[in-house]
Amino acid sequence: MALIAGDHPYLRLSLPENAPFALKPSPGKGWGCFATRYIRRGSIILHEQAWFIFGKSLHELSESDMQECYNHLNGEQKRQFSHLGRNARTLYASKLDALRDNLLPLIPGLDTFGTMNVMRCGLLPISSRFNHSCLPNACIASVQRGIQAVKSIQEGDEINLCYGNSFEVKTTEERARELPFVCICEACNPERNFHYLSDMRRRLLQGIYYLTRGCNINVMHDTQENAVIEDITLKTRSENSEHSSVFLGICYHIRALLLEAEGLATPGLIKTYFYAAMYVTMRKFVRTSRSGPRPSRIEILQARNWMIKALEVMRYVPAPDLEESLDFEALEQQLWSDD
Ligand SMILES: [Zn+2]
Repeated sequence: MALIAGDHPYLRLSLPENAPFALKPSPGKGWGCFATRYIRRGSIILHEQAWFIFGKSLHELSESDMQECYNHLNGEQKRQFSHLGRNARTLYASKLDALRDNLLPLIPGLDTFGTMNVMRCGLLPISSRFNHSCLPNACIASVQRGIQAVKSIQEGDEINLCYGNSFEVKTTEERARELPFVCICEACNPERNFHYLSDMRRRLLQGIYYLTRGCNINVMHDTQENAVIEDITLKTRSENSEHSSVFLGICYHIRALLLEAEGLATPGLIKTYFYAAMYVTMRKFVRTSRSGPRPSRIEILQARNWMIKALEVMRYVPAPDLEESLDFEALEQQLWSDD
């Protein structure tokens, strides 16, 4: 029996006081989270403590893990959880199925040797109410920080997360293979012009991924049939990291333009700006047989522009691992030095 919106058990879920969103039916997606006021990019939308954390990845969980998790919930959590037994319009076959649908992957945790390599996932019933989009306006910053807006969100807009990995370099068909539902976002919807441009851009981004990383994002070993780069010389040079700094700089330059056109504010965009600037700077300071000519004044100004953009995006897109691994300060100093 279909439920009308006013009766839905989701309306009995406790949202944090002053949450900037409400749960509402979302056409074609069941229910979703909609902004109840303007949300500035970079703002934290929800900070939810996981009710239970598994030291395993989602696909490793057994029925007894689920049962253990359920047994661990306190009375109020079990009462709240009873409102989740109906995913939008359909009933789950069992409470354990409902539970599985409210788990999210967490950043890896520490093992007994103190090394960060244990896969984890957690029961986060409110965070799990955010629908997917391949053009998300929010992301899970971290368990500590919660869900953060990566774009400015207008009152009434749905707040979406991207559930997939490396979706910016995957076409609609490739993304659909990984999603357990049909995505109807602008990038996936064949009735929208954006979809065709988006597929073209993401296919080009996949080619650039091969040129700069030397591998195919979708398969371990690419064959003649699924080759992203058909030219054998170019393919081999990419696999052996034999491209010049000029070539790689142009790759990251194009990658930045494609990601901007796609409207994807992700840690990948910050990294792209950084590398686009870095390959110009390398030619200024590091002289090797493959470094190419010294950069022109225009190229230096362009690289400074990429760096300004990288620092700007870092203000609202969480990327703690990039902050640790890339030396932004050193690159900035090199770019603005006179020589
Ligand atoms: Zn989509």
